[in-house]
Amino acid sequence: FLFGAKCVIKGIKPNSREPFECYHMSDIEAGLGLKRKHLIAMSLLVGNDYDSGGVLGIGVEKALRIVRVFSEDEILDRLQDIGKGLKPAVSGGIKSGDDGEESHSEMNKRSPHCSRCGHPGNKRNHFKSSCEHCSCDSGCIKKPFEFRCECSFCSKDRDLKEQKKTENWWIKVCDKIALWPEFPNRKIIELYLSDSFTEDGSSMSWGTPVTEMLVDFMVFKLHWDPSYVRKMLLPMMSTIYLRERAINNTGKPL
Ligand SMILES: [Zn+2]
Ligand SMILES: [Zn+2]
Ligand SMILES: [Zn+2]
Repeated sequence: FLFGAKCVIKGIKPNSREPFECYHMSDIEAGLGLKRKHLIAMSLLVGNDYDSGGVLGIGVEKALRIVRVFSEDEILDRLQDIGKGLKPAVSGGIKSGDDGEESHSEMNKRSPHCSRCGHPGNKRNHFKSSCEHCSCDSGCIKKPFEFRCECSFCSKDRDLKEQKKTENWWIKVCDKIALWPEFPNRKIIELYLSDSFTEDGSSMSWGTPVTEMLVDFMVFKLHWDPSYVRKMLLPMMSTIYLRERAINNTGKPL
């Protein structure tokens, strides 16, 4: 995928019902929202064939969260900025939450909350005339252990804390990446992005798998029976074929 493949055949498991593990780029895009450059960014962060380690302390989950912050057009440039020690502003936020001057001025005006039920108001009033949030006629109900007040102040306060947490997280990962020497490795990016040239400079282009070549390959490498290989390849080849046709019909570029 990093090189631009639309479909990658990963494991080959002989003697199982589906011997080929086939992954489609379109599934990754739909399922994870990741495009090719996102995957390249991921591989730089967690390690790849050319640079096995990746950034220390950044695993798949963190990397996923980082790369999803940016669009495909931005991701590699922003990664470079981060590598230089910058902390690019996250447009729209990692987790959206509208802050601004308004919420800060409201911060100081927390209305009293009842210590018994946790709702706005005070315990004495709740005792006298019940609480409008507790659906109970006499007094108010003791708040459960994991009580979350939904009043505008408390939910805003929670959002703000969440945002602060996300910001701190962002600063931490940016620092971690910036500490990593020579990150991101320009050469690896170029290697992945060079569409039509292989490492030795010979020209290469994408196409659908050539069945006979695959058959030969597997007979040679795995000593499979050619007819067995053909039989096993058929479901995969038809899936690829049908997918290509579906894409062509909707007019999307291949
Ligand atoms: Zn109360
Ligand atoms: Zn209440
Ligand atoms: Zn509240």
